[in-house]
Amino acid sequence: MSVLPILVAGEWRRGRGDVYASRYPADDTVNAELAAANVADVEEAIEAADAARRRPDWANLKPHERAGVLFRIAALIRERAEELAHLQRRDNGKPIGETRALVASAAGTFQFFASACETLEETITPARGDYLTMSVHEPLGVVAAITPWNSPIASEAQKLAPALAAGNGVVVKPAEVTPLAALELGRICEQAGVPRGVVSIVPGKGSVIGDAIVKHPLVKKVSFTGGTTTGRALAKLAAEKLMPVTLELGGKSPTIVCEDADLDHAVNGVIYGIFSSSGESCIAGSRLFVHESVRTAFLERLVAKTNALRVGDPEDVRTQMGPLITAKHRESIERYVQLGLDEGGKLLAGGERPKGGLYDRGWFYRPTILDRLSNTTRIAQEEIFGPVLVALSYRDEDDLLCQANDSVFGLAAGIWTRDYKRAWRLARALETGTVWINTYKQFSISTPFSGIKESGVGVEKGRLGILQYKHQKSLYWGLNEKPLPWAE
Ligand code: ADP
Repeated sequence: MSVLPILVAGEWRRGRGDVYASRYPADDTVNAELAAANVADVEEAIEAADAARRRPDWANLKPHERAGVLFRIAALIRERAEELAHLQRRDNGKPIGETRALVASAAGTFQFFASACETLEETITPARGDYLTMSVHEPLGVVAAITPWNSPIASEAQKLAPALAAGNGVVVKPAEVTPLAALELGRICEQAGVPRGVVSIVPGKGSVIGDAIVKHPLVKKVSFTGGTTTGRALAKLAAEKLMPVTLELGGKSPTIVCEDADLDHAVNGVIYGIFSSSGESCIAGSRLFVHESVRTAFLERLVAKTNALRVGDPEDVRTQMGPLITAKHRESIERYVQLGLDEGGKLLAGGERPKGGLYDRGWFYRPTILDRLSNTTRIAQEEIFGPVLVALSYRDEDDLLCQANDSVFGLAAGIWTRDYKRAWRLARALETGTVWINTYKQFSISTPFSGIKESGVGVEKGRLGILQYKHQKSLYWGLNEKPLPWAE
């Protein structure tokens, strides 16, 4: 098997780091071998991105010309959608239905930021003297995008598209275990006319090249999606340089079923919220709060539907849950489930690996529900990042808000109710960046996304998402007929 090249400073070549394999989590076969970037590669990529972003063929593009490049990227992703969806399925084991959606989302993201790029306005502000005042936006310089393994091509697009729309150079570091879609995105950028060196794709271990990226003086911003522990370490390094960061981190999102909820909708929504993507999602609705009065009826339906979920071959369009990303990650989930049992929990569903056939070759795990625990237990407080739902209950709204907001995280929440006044009250009182009402895990690129508390810093997406990758500059144009009087 030949070793896949990576994109460093406009050249496709072997990284100078360790050779390693991308493996298919469904059966542990090797997808590709590639050589990771080392620190020297990363430094070269950053320096090249800085030189390239200053060259006229990138720096001087008018917004509509830059938009043209981004539209071409969107079109090329769409042309290759099926191939990219399968590549991504092999890379991280998600069911094909999900990877198709992620590829479509990546194309939509480039299209959206292409449009947004053409419509951003700079302003003339009210002047207070004989001058004209303007507020304009400049690119930051080189931006680093560090992405996780759970939704590769969509996460990369979410950072790369606005950073390019803003006129920056970009160094993308995809997660070590899922480099393949990001590398193809690099090829697509080239074909779409992004000038040489503006984008580099440097797969590798965060622990080996992460610090070098964050500390490099030419990197002016890091946009990171990943775990809270890594995000905090990265923010400390960024603070040393006084560099802005956007951090999209962990979650332990409450999903709330009120006594007046439409239980047919709620049961499907709760299941989708936690078990889609095998729960490997920062926004997974992993803490279920059901009103005491409907608890028994709801849990009965929830357990029956959970046990009927189709866990299996990611290539089969009917599959709802594929394998987990790695053997090591599955072990970490198993340790959490054991911890939940040790803390007094009772299994209502799952809690084991399925057995036989493909199940014995990949990193599969059954959708799991734990009951009889309180919100203060570790399993209800720590992010598991897997298909594990903790079923909790509540008495009244005060009790609910007290428990739901008792979390270090503040990413998302779901509310199932028919009472629009209650929905409004709860939605405003929940301490999270997103609230879904009678739906869950729906996304629109035009709607800003952010986390509060330990779930993140900064905002991604939305029309103004481009401004996250620019700095604001003020211009004063003197219109005085006479010289400034002070020196007279
Ligand atoms: P996950 O649990 O999703 O793997 P991580 O936070 O470990 O979350 O990883 C998210 C991304 O951050 C990956 O691309 C990973 O390689 C990278 N990363 C890990 N450690 C560091 C670090 N010290 N500095 C910068 N990036 C890192």
